[in-house]
Amino acid sequence: MASYSLIIDGRNVATTETTDILNPATMELVGKAPVATKADLDAAVAAADRAFQSWSRESDDRRKQACLDMAKVLEDNMGELSRLLTMEQGKPLEGMGSGFELGACMAWAGAQASFELPVKVIEDSEAQRIELHRKPLGVVASITPWNWPLMIAIWHIVPAIRTGNTVVLKPSPYTPLSTLRMVEILNAVLPAGVLNVVSGTDELGQWMTEHDAIKKVVFTGSCGTGKKVMQSAAGNLKRLTLELGGNDAAIVLPDTDVGKMAEKIFGGAFINSGQTCAAIKRLYVHDSIYDEMCATLTKIAEATPVGNGLEQGILMGPIQNKMQYDKVVGLVEDAKANGARILTGGEPMEGPGYFYPLTLVADISDGTRLVDEEQFGPVLPIIRYSDVEEVLERANNSEFGLSGSVWSSDLDKAAELAKRLECGTSWVNVHAAIAPNVPMGGVKSSGMGVEFGEEGLAEYTDIHVISIDKT
Ligand code: NAD
Repeated sequence: MASYSLIIDGRNVATTETTDILNPATMELVGKAPVATKADLDAAVAAADRAFQSWSRESDDRRKQACLDMAKVLEDNMGELSRLLTMEQGKPLEGMGSGFELGACMAWAGAQASFELPVKVIEDSEAQRIELHRKPLGVVASITPWNWPLMIAIWHIVPAIRTGNTVVLKPSPYTPLSTLRMVEILNAVLPAGVLNVVSGTDELGQWMTEHDAIKKVVFTGSCGTGKKVMQSAAGNLKRLTLELGGNDAAIVLPDTDVGKMAEKIFGGAFINSGQTCAAIKRLYVHDSIYDEMCATLTKIAEATPVGNGLEQGILMGPIQNKMQYDKVVGLVEDAKANGARILTGGEPMEGPGYFYPLTLVADISDGTRLVDEEQFGPVLPIIRYSDVEEVLERANNSEFGLSGSVWSSDLDKAAELAKRLECGTSWVNVHAAIAPNVPMGGVKSSGMGVEFGEEGLAEYTDIHVISIDKT
């Protein structure tokens, strides 16, 4: 079995304590993850701080090249990383699984090289010249969740490095191994100390958010933890990017071609077995096409193979961990107790592993936990509505505001409605369609700041104004 270690200052560092990481499909041991101490964290931050002194002065071209080099080593090691990701996270190798995630890692890493944050000349008159520069911040702490561990780590670390910062990354305690290995691989093309990784408990995350030598935290995870991060980052006014939970509504208008759109709606809801921040989590369907939509989605769900992601032909894996599994079971049981109708699924599958079937729940409405809370699993509530204005109000009546979608044969009408959704991204006739050059972020309790594109890159910088009096 491969061994895993922290990576600090370009070197592998072993820890006294380790924790067993089990495959959620088989409950077999995948590997032992190091548990970092506070001293390990201090060493990683000190290494990153030292590396910042030189990395922040490197030319833009050198840093662009580093992004391309990172994309290339990810490509070279795609087979190993995607297999490890499947064993640790549960997602299949095929479909929108590990191969897809590694592909996204390469695309996002490489794309950072094409973005520019040029000096902006605000005024250049006889009297004065005023320039706006963007400067790196220093050591950036990246804290990631367990659902898309590698892709989200790349979303954090590559723009940070591109803009001249250095990084200490902490993966989720549920999925540390693939991240530790990925950082080891990336270190082959980076100067020592630019990218460090420490794994351990949730407490390690808290130590990072409190650490005085860390200048920014980029955090992806739940709303509850995001709020804690914001509180404990106040000590030295750390810059923050918070990408938090969502409860995305999709509104299907009466003129929607169900046959044409159902596959896309299904994909938008069940991507990564629903363990995706920006998946459809509430599907509002107009009364006139409700039964047709329920029947079509049921057919698709029942034809989608669920199983061990290492096996050929599997398109959906297990839920990643027991905590999330128990939450999903609880939400479905609560829905049943409140009179909802199970169209398919709805009962835990035989073990081993945290398998739960793709589940569609009809005759359910707002006010039920499965509709109001983030299920983050393979369960979709389908809610009937008859009045468009009223359904828009219901969609917006949520503490979350990550994304949403409107579905219709009339694109203009759908776009008008999409503009009125209270969220960071509204899609029409598609859901969870993201791209490296399109900024994405949540409003309300779904977060602050954005990732991707030049707007996302700018979040890893402070503004520095240079003002020259020419008189
Ligand atoms: P989580 O909040 O439990 O954990 C996320 C990370 O925070 C982990 O690394 C964890 O160890 C760390 N952590 C825990 N307590 C901490 C503390 N007090 N201080 C600092 N760090 C701490 O989230 P999760 O269960 O791993 O992920 C699922 C959640 O993430 C869902 O709500 C999902 O919607 C959200 N998510 C959001 C996005 C997005 O881009 N908006 C993307 C993916 C996931």
